[in-house]
Amino acid sequence: MIQDLFRLDGKVALVTGGTRGIGLGIVEALAEAGAHVIVSSKVPKPEVIARLKAAGHTIDYLQADMQDPAAPAKLVADATAITGRLDILVNNAGVAQHGDTHSFTEANYRRLMDINVDAVFRACQAALVPMRKQQSGVILNIGSISGYISNIPQPQAAYNASKAAVHMLTKSIASDYAGEGIRANAIAPGYIDTDMTAGGFANPEWSPVWRGMTPMPKVGTPEDIGAAALYLCSAASSYVTGEVLVIDGGYTIR
Ligand code: NDP
Repeated sequence: MIQDLFRLDGKVALVTGGTRGIGLGIVEALAEAGAHVIVSSKVPKPEVIARLKAAGHTIDYLQADMQDPAAPAKLVADATAITGRLDILVNNAGVAQHGDTHSFTEANYRRLMDINVDAVFRACQAALVPMRKQQSGVILNIGSISGYISNIPQPQAAYNASKAAVHMLTKSIASDYAGEGIRANAIAPGYIDTDMTAGGFANPEWSPVWRGMTPMPKVGTPEDIGAAALYLCSAASSYVTGEVLVIDGGYTIR
């Protein structure tokens, strides 16, 4: 049956930044498909974890500040220790910061690259250990349309560069580990309704530009990304690797 390809029963998934926004949308999609999901975030949100468990999902929680260079390896090791395997890693945790390049602070640049790029690389590195032992696994990284286009009206060169790095890291891992049964893909969302974009959608100068440049007359939701994540993390996409799936209401068409 075609729907069986989208089931994740018996699979163990680790999702960073999984207690709100896009990450929570991904957690809900994977859990509904039957996965045992290990949710991580910097700020613990026991009420979200309790709600997921009350819905009947198999959920564990691990706190981790991904800006700490030691955190990704420890997180992956702790997650793998729970059931002795790791089938799916979703690198979703990320931060956005706009600002002119000529005055962008070193601290802001470092934070962006630490969380959006370095932590993703380190988590992939760590996840490849159990996945290589299993000779199977799926990595899903959350990139952005900003890895392809330069957003307007807000300048955000550092963020854009961080997401382009995520895309290329994904493709390279896909190429290097395809022979070991490991797939790596990314999703490049357009503007999605989360805490990250709330300020922009409330900004009378930004919001009309963002909406005007998106052909579809709606703002994307975490559920839109969750559905695509389920496809890319399940056997439904078993011949897909190195793909960066753009989900942007058509923004990048124009
Ligand atoms: P939110 O700001 O709503 O959530 C960000 C998530 O990242 C939170 O779960 C947060 O955890 C986690 N996070 C941030 N810093 C750290 C850290 N130091 N350690 C651990 N976790 C951290 O953002 P979105 O849900 O919108 O974004 C999710 C991903 O999607 C990001 O990678 C973002 O760049 C990307 N994206 C978003 C788009 C959008 O329009 N919203 C568009 C394109 C890409 P905590 O709750 O603990 O702070």
